[in-house]
Amino acid sequence: MLYKLIETKSLLSRAIKRQFSMAWYCSGTSNTELVENLSRMDLIKNEQVKRAMMGVDRAHYAPSRPYSDSPQPIGHGATISAPHMHGHACEYLVNYLKPGCRALDVGSGSGYLTHVFANLVTSPSGDGPSGQVIGVDHIPELVELADSNMRKSEQGRELLDSGKVKFITADGRKGWAEGAPYDAIHVGAAAETLHPQLVDQLRAPGRMFIPVSAEDPTALGGQYIWVVDKKEDGSIHKEKIFQVSYVPLTDPPK
Ligand code: SAH
Repeated sequence: MLYKLIETKSLLSRAIKRQFSMAWYCSGTSNTELVENLSRMDLIKNEQVKRAMMGVDRAHYAPSRPYSDSPQPIGHGATISAPHMHGHACEYLVNYLKPGCRALDVGSGSGYLTHVFANLVTSPSGDGPSGQVIGVDHIPELVELADSNMRKSEQGRELLDSGKVKFITADGRKGWAEGAPYDAIHVGAAAETLHPQLVDQLRAPGRMFIPVSAEDPTALGGQYIWVVDKKEDGSIHKEKIFQVSYVPLTDPPK
């Protein structure tokens, strides 16, 4: 019990230090500087991820402190996640976000990560294969916000008008069956469980990045990122990656 407490305390202090050091070192004065700092700190290692994040100005999605490496409120009790968390999600999913791939972004909120995913699944020159990204949120005002955020750039308008990106109001715990199967599923709010409908909607092979509330209520932060791989033969492999703190996936507000 004592050991567990000490272990928990040290995990908390490491998590807090990590949070502060990232915010301190990675924040920038421009989108380019922010992404360069994330790359310098090895939080983004993949060149495609770097290019995709360079291609989306966070000022269109997090107007108050766009280049700070910290979560920012976007209204309706939601936050845009910190840039380093967006970086982690992309790094884990990038092999399933090749040009032509299909992705589902559950809890799309500001729409920022949906846009970054769209940059990855579409060919930079526009003449290669083009995939599709579906962003799902259960708050209609946030679905509208994501749409209007993406319309702030010409490239964002093209993604929406061509149907390469769609924002949909729905309960993301059920996924979006109409667009399945997905090569990649990202969940941007903490689930109570690995919702089976989401796993069903993964392609084989495919990968899901999902924060899940820990079964052990004494665990600090109470949530872990799980990476769920559906192998080519349909078998499922799950791995608990690191501890996080996300807003929960819930019923829509009344
Ligand atoms: N990836 C987003 C995160 C937004 S915060 C970003 O970085 O901007 C989490 C989002 O999950 C909120 O927008 C919230 O409305 C949404 N959400 C919570 N429960 C949900 C549910 N059951 N279905 C769909 N979206 C949900």
